[in-house]
Amino acid sequence: MSETSECLFCRILAGEVPADVVAETDHSLAFRDIGPQAPTHVLVIPRRHVPDIGTLAAEAPEELADAVALAARVADDEGLEGFRLVANTGAAAQQTVFHCHLHVLGGRELTWPPG
Ligand code: 5GP
Ligand code: ZN
Repeated sequence: MSETSECLFCRILAGEVPADVVAETDHSLAFRDIGPQAPTHVLVIPRRHVPDIGTLAAEAPEELADAVALAARVADDEGLEGFRLVANTGAAAQQTVFHCHLHVLGGRELTWPPG
């Protein structure tokens, strides 16, 4: 089994696992989180399999920029007044899927600091 065939988000990209896709580009896919933590909770992932956002920045900065731009477009499409981008990195920060992803959260008042 290759790394990507075992990766949940690579399987979503391949169409092997269903997802509620809201937008996409040549480099990125946006779909609704299965366990939403806010009225809008969308995940934006690069098509490239990398474990986290720092690796994406190092390997393909233009693809990171594409993902951030897609996240902003989704927030606009959803009519959000404001939104939060979260990139949990490492198990200690509650990362559970080790394919880079941005959480786009909005649609309710967001408190600070996060937990
Ligand atoms: P992390 O905890 O790694 O930052 O975020 C992973 C996110 O993936 C979680 O918010 C979780 O709810 C979401 N997730 C896990 N499995 C699935 C799935 O099969 N489909 C979708 N759409 N989201 C998932
Ligand atoms: Zn992957």
